[in-house]
Formats: sequence, C-alpha cells, structure tokens
Amino acid sequence: MWGALITIQCMADVSAIRLLLLRSTVLGMFLAMAGDASAAVSSAAAVTWQPAKLVRGSPVLFRVSLPTNVKGLSGKWLGHEVKFFSVPGNKGWYALAGIPVETTAGSYDLELTGTRGAANFQYVKRIRVSPANYPKIAIHVGKQFTEPSPEQLKHIASDKELKQSIFAKETEVRLWEGGFQAPVSAATSDPFGTERVFNGEVKSRHLGLDYAVGPGTPVHAVNRGTVLLARDLYFEGGFVAIDHGQGLMSLYLHLSDFKVHEGDEVSSGQLIALSGGSGRATGPHLHLAVRWQGIYLNPAVLLKLELPESHHVETADQGSH
Ligand SMILES: [Zn+2]
Repeated sequence: MWGALITIQCMADVSAIRLLLLRSTVLGMFLAMAGDASAAVSSAAAVTWQPAKLVRGSPVLFRVSLPTNVKGLSGKWLGHEVKFFSVPGNKGWYALAGIPVETTAGSYDLELTGTRGAANFQYVKRIRVSPANYPKIAIHVGKQFTEPSPEQLKHIASDKELKQSIFAKETEVRLWEGGFQAPVSAATSDPFGTERVFNGEVKSRHLGLDYAVGPGTPVHAVNRGTVLLARDLYFEGGFVAIDHGQGLMSLYLHLSDFKVHEGDEVSSGQLIALSGGSGRATGPHLHLAVRWQGIYLNPAVLLKLELPESHHVETADQGSH
C-alpha cells in the first residue's frame, strides 16, 4: 500500500516537475528570444543626432541605424512620443524632436521600442543636454500691448482660443520632406531664446527668430505642409501657421498680406505672404517660430539640420492626402 501510494505520489511529483520544467523551458525560450532580439539589435543599433551639441530650446534630429528586418520604431524623449521613419536603402531611421527651453542641463534617456521579425525589442540611449545661455534685453512697446483695454482683452482672449484650436490639430503623418529653408534671404535681427523685459515690467522669452526685412518682402514656406491659419491676430498681426505633420508647425508673424488661404497645401519655398510690422512689433520684421508638440524650438537650428532626402510617398507613413 505504502509503496503504491509513494509511487503514485512520485509520479504526480514527476509530472508536476515535468510541467514546471516545460513551463520554464518555454519561458526561457521566450526570454532568450526577446533577449536575442534586444541583444542583436543593441549590438547593431547606433544612435546619432544633430546638432552634435544639444541644448534646451534646440530641435534635434535622431538617426538610428538598425538591421534591415526592423519593421517599426518609436521612441520616448522628455515625455514626448517620437515617431521614426525609415529611409529606404540607408538602414537609417529618423525622427525630428526637440528639447523644451525650460529643460535643465543633464542626461536624458531616449527610449526606443521597435519590431524586428515577430519580436519586439527595446533600446535605451542616454543623451546629454548641455547648458545654454540666452541673452537678456529690455524692450519698449506701446501701452496697448502691456495694459490692454477690456475691448482689446476680448480680442486677445478670442485669439487665444483660436490658436489653441489650431495648435490642437496635429497631423499624424509627416508632410515635411528634405531640408528646411529660410523664409526670406535676409540677416536675422533677434535670435531665439532672448529673455525680454517689457518696459521694465513684463518678462517673456523670444520664442522665434527675427529677420530684418522691410514691409512687403516675399515670405516663403520653410517646408511642405498645410496652411492651418492665415489671418490677423492682435499680438501676432498678420499670422500664418503651417502644419508640417507629426506635431511640427511653422508660424510667420507681423505679415502685411497673405498669399495663401487656410487649408491650402504648400510646397517647400512657396510664397505664402508679404512681411510687415503688424501686431506687437517694434517695427517691420519677420518673426518665424517653430513648434513641435507644443514646444517652441530654435528655428535657426532647424534650418541647419541635414535631413535625409526622402519623399513622403516612399516611406511607411504615407497616406497624407
Ligand atoms: Zn520675434
């Protein structure tokens, strides 16, 4: 009796152990597969970026080299989702992102998640954001801009609502293609990031790049996109906003005339407006601003990035029309 019982118990134990072994083997194989995929990708992955030295307020172009059988890549960077696109032939995956101007210098993780064959892989790259010093200047503007009347406040509030609604319209697909070009060929007069003191009272930061151009100068789109807004606003004056897709927008301020309509698709370098000195401007000039997922970035850096020459129709993110 004992013997039989022991045998049965043993058999039961053996089955349980076998099951456990089988489970751990399957789990082990799964881990090994995931490990292999990550290890293989990690050893093959190389993350580079432009500009070489990153500072707060700068746009950044990430490039990730990966094995050819990688089918998708996304990333997380400073709390933002980063969308990568592949360029056929050069094994490179690219994404335009940015660093908020309030970011403190330090090291931050770019967390990558991708698909290779049937397995997912993850890869983390630690990236240094160096300190940046932006200049401080005092500027003087008319009282109507620092102490607006109730009527003017109404105008400002409705502008704010309008801007919020257009800024919320972020196109998922990438519309921009190739390098970005300057909207005018002229010298710049005020760089991005300057801290401004209005009449010794109101503080703000210059979140765009000013070009010293007289009124009536032709203004061109910095890249391909869709016109979200082309109208007069209180502070901005004549204002054009272009959506370049994947959260990237370019804004053109103080314009005197529009050459495009809201909803128009524009190509890179297309004439969109004439410059002016409308809105809160100390004189005629063009203010160019670049927004990425709600963050204002330094346009001068964006214009210098060497972007891959790829037509949107050749990439996985097609379907914009
Ligand atoms: Zn400006």
